[in-house]
Amino acid sequence: MKLLTANFITCSVKSCQSVTPALSFRDAELAREEIDFSPLFLRNILPRIDWPLLQRTAKELGFPALPETKPELSPIAEGDEEGVGSEEEQKLLKELHSLLLETSVQSGKLVCANCGHEYPISQGIANFLLPNHLV
Ligand SMILES: [Zn+2]
Repeated sequence: MKLLTANFITCSVKSCQSVTPALSFRDAELAREEIDFSPLFLRNILPRIDWPLLQRTAKELGFPALPETKPELSPIAEGDEEGVGSEEEQKLLKELHSLLLETSVQSGKLVCANCGHEYPISQGIANFLLPNHLV
């Protein structure tokens, strides 16, 4: 499961879906896979990222701390078709690329901070099925 995916999921238990604290990784075993760098894709996805959650996930998984607030990128300059931006922005986008798209959790579990339910992750796939009594 890519960290990008993890940024968009919530606990399947109904009463948890309106609650802010989302899922945390436990016992996560990470894998890396090289993926083509697409600054434009990251520029498009950045506004939809839950930044505090991503910060927390990065911390949980032992990555270097992310900036305090979500970075604001300047508009793409004319002629910059790939959206690479300034040197500084490119560095940031590469870091996000590496974290969100190239890093995945192969095994471990996702734990809901609200209800405590644990979702197992195996071979990179999280199982979000709930036992009957929680549906
Ligand atoms: Zn929950």
